[in-house]
Amino acid sequence: ALVVGRRVRSRRKWKRVVGVLKELEESCETTVGRLKQVVDAMAVEMHAGLASEGGSKLKMLLTFVDSLPSGSEKGIFYALDLGGTNFRVLRVELGGQRSDLDPDVEQQPIPEQLMTGRSEDLFDFIASSLYQFVEKNDSVQSPITKLLGFTFSFPVKQTSVSSGVLIKWTKGFAIRDMAEKEVAGALQQALTRKGLNMRVSVLVNDTVGTLALGHYHDADTVAAVIIGTGTNACYWERTDAIIKCQGLLTTSGGMVVNMEWGNFWSSHLPRTSYDVKLDAESPNPNDQGFEKMISGMYLGDIVRRVILRMSEESDVFGPVSSRLYVPFTLRTPLMAAMHEDDSPELTQVARILKDFLDIPDIPLKARKLVVKICDVVTRRAARLAAAGIVGILKKIGRDGSGGITGGRSRSDIKMRRTAVAVEGSLYTQYTMFREYLHEALNEILGEDIARHVVIIVTEDGSGTGAALLAASHSSENVNNIQ
Ligand code: BGC
Ligand code: MG
Repeated sequence: ALVVGRRVRSRRKWKRVVGVLKELEESCETTVGRLKQVVDAMAVEMHAGLASEGGSKLKMLLTFVDSLPSGSEKGIFYALDLGGTNFRVLRVELGGQRSDLDPDVEQQPIPEQLMTGRSEDLFDFIASSLYQFVEKNDSVQSPITKLLGFTFSFPVKQTSVSSGVLIKWTKGFAIRDMAEKEVAGALQQALTRKGLNMRVSVLVNDTVGTLALGHYHDADTVAAVIIGTGTNACYWERTDAIIKCQGLLTTSGGMVVNMEWGNFWSSHLPRTSYDVKLDAESPNPNDQGFEKMISGMYLGDIVRRVILRMSEESDVFGPVSSRLYVPFTLRTPLMAAMHEDDSPELTQVARILKDFLDIPDIPLKARKLVVKICDVVTRRAARLAAAGIVGILKKIGRDGSGGITGGRSRSDIKMRRTAVAVEGSLYTQYTMFREYLHEALNEILGEDIARHVVIIVTEDGSGTGAALLAASHSSENVNNIQ
């Protein structure tokens, strides 16, 4: 009788866990109908953000990048890419003709104490790494000033293509004395302290670098999206649509706009109690709501929160592991590894739960549950990112809707080939994420339209693109050959 009693109890507990899962699935629901509402909201907010300063949670920042690389750039250029998990320095030689760029790249993680310390220490560290890198490839003593594209992946209020002020930190960076400081100037001073004859000739967001490289390879590229530690997008906009900046004139008639879509918000977003808590406990509450549902910094932590809740409500994961209470213990790459574990016994899942969350020996049924949680969280993220992309296409009239003429059939839709450059570890390293994103693009746009939308994956675009922009935005371009 005792055994039977226990079995009944454990079945009841299992039922409770299934209830938690069901609730999660419901609150993460992204039907095509809902995604289309997100698309519309994105397009509306884009308009509002362009109409007036502070008109929307979408900042729609000017970049002063009014032309994109054409391929004719020539010379040796450097770039420095700061703002994700890793920090990169890179050098590229441009031959005056479009070619497969093969930059020298070096990367290293940013020491954690530098992410929350003093800005001078961070910039001195960067300048030293850059110095060593230059020393390997060129003469550091050369009297010719080397040009540097600086990719700084945070919201910046630009004052020119080569200067701007940090608006706020994201992604766990929190260097207080950076507020209101001119970003390129801070780097320039560190370079000078180091005695490096180098000039920061452009200051760009990583999305802008990615768009530049995308456009270099494929002239139909109109937007770029990053889905990595953080998430964001930029796109090419007509200056006359940037209403908040009356009289803005560029020769090209356009300018790249950095949307800072990580901060997008809409009541149509499917939000869970886990999101609410994650946000409240984050260093930037009420900020970057879209990013917190989509990007690599957060997805693993949403999963951790769900497992914690299930563990508290039942014993399917054994006694509640204290590790489950530690924020960010379950990093997104681990989550991806569990999600994509295709071994019949889910041995990866078991290993990761044991090694990282201190949850040993759970039955297969519970491991499957973990895979399911990862699936729900990632699917929602990827589908929301897809809706964001379609939102941009809609804003610029490339979603096919403008091309439908009275009563004609869908096959008559005139749709120009449109390329979107995408970069970031979630998209490139997480197959399930990528597949869900593509699937959602097809669902939202319909196959006829989606056929004309090409996603191009750039490699090191945020950095290489900055080097390209340093080239295309420098009058010294032709003289820079060493
Ligand atoms: C930043 C953006 C950046 C994105 C991707 C976000 O947290 O606010 O400026 O483009 O991350 O790196
Ligand atoms: Mg990056």
